[in-house]
Amino acid sequence: MKRLIPSLLVTIALGACSTNENPSVISSNASSGPKNIIMVVGDGMGPAYTTAYRYFSDNPNTQAIEDTVFDRHLVGMASTYPARVSGYVTDSAAAATALATGVKSYNGAIGLDVNKNPVETVLEWAKIQGKKTGVVVTSQINHATPASYLAHNESRRNYNAIADSYIDDGIKADLYLGGGWKYFIREDRNLVNEFKGAGFQYIDDYKQLSQLDSSKPVLGLFGNSGLPWALDDKKKDRLSLMTKAATKQLESSNGYFMLVEASQVDWGGHGRDIGAAMAEMHDLAKTLEFLEEYVAKNPDTLVVVTADHSTGGLSIGRKTGKSNKDIQSKYLWQPEILRTMKISPSKFSKLFAKNNLTHQQVNETLNFDISTEDMALLLKSKQEGIEALQRYQQLSKEAQIKQKTFTPVSIAPILITIKKIIDIKTNTGWGSISHSGTHTGVDVPVYAFGKGSEMFKGRIDNTDIAKNIFTLLGK
Ligand code: MG
Ligand code: ZN
Repeated sequence: MKRLIPSLLVTIALGACSTNENPSVISSNASSGPKNIIMVVGDGMGPAYTTAYRYFSDNPNTQAIEDTVFDRHLVGMASTYPARVSGYVTDSAAAATALATGVKSYNGAIGLDVNKNPVETVLEWAKIQGKKTGVVVTSQINHATPASYLAHNESRRNYNAIADSYIDDGIKADLYLGGGWKYFIREDRNLVNEFKGAGFQYIDDYKQLSQLDSSKPVLGLFGNSGLPWALDDKKKDRLSLMTKAATKQLESSNGYFMLVEASQVDWGGHGRDIGAAMAEMHDLAKTLEFLEEYVAKNPDTLVVVTADHSTGGLSIGRKTGKSNKDIQSKYLWQPEILRTMKISPSKFSKLFAKNNLTHQQVNETLNFDISTEDMALLLKSKQEGIEALQRYQQLSKEAQIKQKTFTPVSIAPILITIKKIIDIKTNTGWGSISHSGTHTGVDVPVYAFGKGSEMFKGRIDNTDIAKNIFTLLGK
């Protein structure tokens, strides 16, 4: 009873389809696989995120709580645990390796099995099958998730080596869109020039996405590391913009395989930042709405959406203390201020640290009102930040180095305070008690639509997603 799909795959591989009880799986064999496969990962997007997004995007003027694009395409749940050696809770590298190769590995592994042997990825296999390939992400393009489809490295932290391998191991994709200037334009090596030398067009502004030369592969980098938060970016719908351009660019007679990642849902979760997380979810939802239309026009396309794990222990509602006079009921989540926020807590903290904002200016900047007590808390945390930085600066160089795990950033206390204010106003809870958050081992939702989507139904494992994609790609 453990896992149905792998045994079905084995059945298919042996050609013994007559014993197969699931006709939908039989019909999705290699020869009839979809022309285009779009794998979408919401990094850190456990079920609390897609549920929270439903209430975040609810139209409060209607009785109904409207379904989201996620709700329309839910097909099941996937387990995410890594290889035995790493326990039950995965990181993004092991999870993406599972999603890309069908093999579970240790946390930190990029496209390697537990013995550190490279494992073929669905993207690599699609390329060999003559399909075009691409990755579209909001992190740097050499971050764990895209890297697990494109590279093989013993550690996700080897950012430069992973970037180098995008050239040195042979160019595997026709399109790369995301962030990463600091890894691709370095003193020791300029990989952007090397991509150009290999015939790529290079763009570094979202505006250029509408003017791509369809006859040339494309490298588009739009940020130093990851892209700015959706809340702060000049294009808040950057993931959908990039995805739209990518579908046009990758269209070809043999079809394509593309990875799309909403990378920063996870970063919102780590930061216990519900405002940033919901804005990232919104960008992903807009992307999926576009893909819905795209599949309606191009029915020979499969879209699979899942998360690699959940992050931060997000809870929709928290137990409130008596001290919180704003919230009377224990059972409550109030996303209203999240819908109108127009700046990330991080950017707000920088502005607040640098300028002497009045209470009214704070309200205008946040686009919601905070209380006098909250304003006092913000001012107090600003002072704490200044003092922590002064204490640090007075230390000897040696003592500063000893403190390497904690270099005070003067905005940190402000950031913690504003996020706390938002959590209290919205009644959002986090299981993670550390400011850097954590991953949690809960199963994640799976969404699928288009040709072959029935293969992803029910309770599956993250490795089944790669195994099914390999099957659809004729392996
Ligand atoms: Mg409604
Ligand atoms: Zn993470």
